[in-house]
Amino acid sequence: MKFGGVAVANGERIKRVAHLIQQFKDEEERKEGKRAEIVVVISALSKVTDMLLENASRVATEGNLEKVKVFVEEVRAKHELAASEAIANENELIRVKDELKERIAEMEKAMIGICLLGELSPRSLDYISSYGERLAAPILAGTLRAMGMEAVHLTGGEAGIITNEEYGNAQLTWGAEREIRDKIMPLLEDRIPVVTGFIGETKKKTVTTLGRGGSDYTATIIGAAIDADEIWLWKETEGIMSADPKIVRNARKLPYLSYIEAMELSYFGASVLHPRAMEPVMRKKIPIRVKNLSKPEDAGTLIGTEPEKTTKAAKAITFIENISILNIAGSGMRSISEVAARIFSALAAKNVDIIMISQGSSEMTISLVIATSQLDRAIGAIQSIDSGGAVIRDFSSNSNVCAVGVVGAGMAGIPGVAGKVFSALGKEGISVIMISQGSSEFNISFVVKKEEAYRAAQAIHDVFEMGA
Ligand code: ASP
Ligand code: MG
Repeated sequence: MKFGGVAVANGERIKRVAHLIQQFKDEEERKEGKRAEIVVVISALSKVTDMLLENASRVATEGNLEKVKVFVEEVRAKHELAASEAIANENELIRVKDELKERIAEMEKAMIGICLLGELSPRSLDYISSYGERLAAPILAGTLRAMGMEAVHLTGGEAGIITNEEYGNAQLTWGAEREIRDKIMPLLEDRIPVVTGFIGETKKKTVTTLGRGGSDYTATIIGAAIDADEIWLWKETEGIMSADPKIVRNARKLPYLSYIEAMELSYFGASVLHPRAMEPVMRKKIPIRVKNLSKPEDAGTLIGTEPEKTTKAAKAITFIENISILNIAGSGMRSISEVAARIFSALAAKNVDIIMISQGSSEMTISLVIATSQLDRAIGAIQSIDSGGAVIRDFSSNSNVCAVGVVGAGMAGIPGVAGKVFSALGKEGISVIMISQGSSEFNISFVVKKEEAYRAAQAIHDVFEMGA
């Protein structure tokens, strides 16, 4: 079971999470007539990761030690309060608070180092951001113990999540599965391991992170390694929805999705699951369930191997706001592949994440969609390639846009799906600015003007009867 940041936002909520764990453990034991084995994965308390990242970079640029103190104090107060609210047993509370103090002292030292050096490497950034989870896990473990359950907390490294050194987006190493099994299985005999999500460790024992939102990924890595029966990802939503209910009127919960569909949805910005979370379980065919924290009895959305037998070609819509299109026209002097190569490596060097790509064949124009927050960086990167128009003739950007992705495994090989999408938009008088379809055919994405985007999403949702 994995619990995200909002689920453990404060002491009250942590207590609720502990009760949920107890409830399902009891139910399972009654049903099976034997001890239920549960691994818990926990994220940082809501907003804490952001706070750590922001403050680390601020402190590095400003070099103000006073601000380190203020920040450390804020982190301390937040976690101590959560612990006091969640843990009813005095001795447990003391034990947890002692541990929090130790962790916070370590974090403070690192922050002071960053402040004095004025330097923040990806490696230090991973180290600092790991403290969100490392402060959360002891609180939940203490809460479970205070309620009479045997629980221990572990960091990702202690749980065997051994990664490469790609800080900020670390990948699991070969052999890690074995390591995880060796670490977790013995604990399961008499305890509930509470593992920090999001973080791993290199062979040399430096802390790494698996990318933002990486706790889902931690959960599926561990689930696959120990051959779990199911992996439950507890969310604040009903499960995975056919569209964002704030945007589309009759959006509904999808009872079932295949791994591929869930993957397409998360790659395309539906912030339900970490995009790589499906990788570890696909081979082992372990089902994932996305469960709703406020309706624990509900089955949620099941994600599994079998493609669903459905007559619906397209099942769900994702919607990305705050994006920009970059149109880049290559100079006639260069081949399109050379222009593309230069653009992509310049953007990669600046860590710009590309959401969509499309290329018109005639004019040597490449259009890219990126997050607007990365636009300045992207423009800088593109300007840096150019030497007197030898590579790039012209480029422009447009931030007044939204992207819509239409997803469904039923779309592959079925003629007329794109036709249906674009005629629905035509009927609404909405003009399409950019289109892209992955050759998997599980996803058609397009970009429209911001002010027409909600209407576009509703029209597509209606024409494929996604709400029924
Ligand atoms: N705490 C991490 C983040 O905010 C990981 C997660 O929430 O899954 O990205
Ligand atoms: Mg999160």
